[in-house]
Amino acid sequence: MTGSDVLASLHPRLPSPLQEVRDARFTRHGIRLLLKRDDLIHPELIGNKWRKLAPNLDAAAGRRIVTFGGAYSNHLRATAAAGRILGLPTTGVVRGQELADRPLNPSLARCAADGMRLHFVDRSTYRHKTDPETLAAILRAAGAEDAYVVPEGGSNAEAVRGCMSLGTELRGHADVVALACGTGGTLAGLTAGLAPTQRTLGIPVLKGGFLTADIQALQKQAFGGHRGAWSLDDRFHFGGYARTTPELDTFAEDFEQRHGLPVERLYVAKLLYGLVALAEEGSLAPGSTLAAVITGRP
Ligand SMILES: *Cc1c(COP(=O)(O)O)cnc(C)c1O
Repeated sequence: MTGSDVLASLHPRLPSPLQEVRDARFTRHGIRLLLKRDDLIHPELIGNKWRKLAPNLDAAAGRRIVTFGGAYSNHLRATAAAGRILGLPTTGVVRGQELADRPLNPSLARCAADGMRLHFVDRSTYRHKTDPETLAAILRAAGAEDAYVVPEGGSNAEAVRGCMSLGTELRGHADVVALACGTGGTLAGLTAGLAPTQRTLGIPVLKGGFLTADIQALQKQAFGGHRGAWSLDDRFHFGGYARTTPELDTFAEDFEQRHGLPVERLYVAKLLYGLVALAEEGSLAPGSTLAAVITGRP
């Protein structure tokens, strides 16, 4: 079997479902809200992680996959699950040497249970992991010199092109497509798949304001230049990655109850909160259809 046959044998639910929800906070401003349920693509390779990993699993062609993440990385979890399901060896390089001496948190314990080898590095080494010499040293120390390397967050050119399908599935269905961004790889690809009349709105969950340049670089790598109409709204990161407030938690619980949607907290909660705020301040045109991409699940 080729890589893509293996992936097809996992029976991903594609295109992912598109569901309309009735929510007065949108309808009273004349906005139709759709949920693009990428969280339902596969029970373990969830959401945008499927779209980003699939082409890389193919390109790895059976080699060990090495990738990078923090102690709670959804990307590490998805890579580990893919490795178990497809019988591919995986190594996760984890930020934080000190974690090596502590019991694994539930996220890393899952990775280990899925057969992922964990290799902990100190924060300074981790920061320099894209320098060729540092990377070579990490791979040597992890005993993974011939491995296929997937960058942190999984966003390389293959992953970005893999996310174009999310855009093509949404052609003709919405005026604005909104999603939460970490590395911005999903946005970079999704935008390239949309029709010229559609635009993308990204809600970064990390603080820093570096994402515009990162997305431009990812689009250049994947497509040779800028694609599509996209913008970012930096007001809804709640202090940074994995930061939350009681207000955000209450909002997420309330959304779950109203719509029966399990709301992933690191990304999806911030997206939905941001969209409600944008609707209330009148930033979304009355009469328009908004598709919120549900990129993951709790
Ligand atoms: C990884 C992840 C993202 C971020 O995707 P990027 O391509 O890195 O921007 C968004 N939502 C969820 C649920 C994720 O797990």
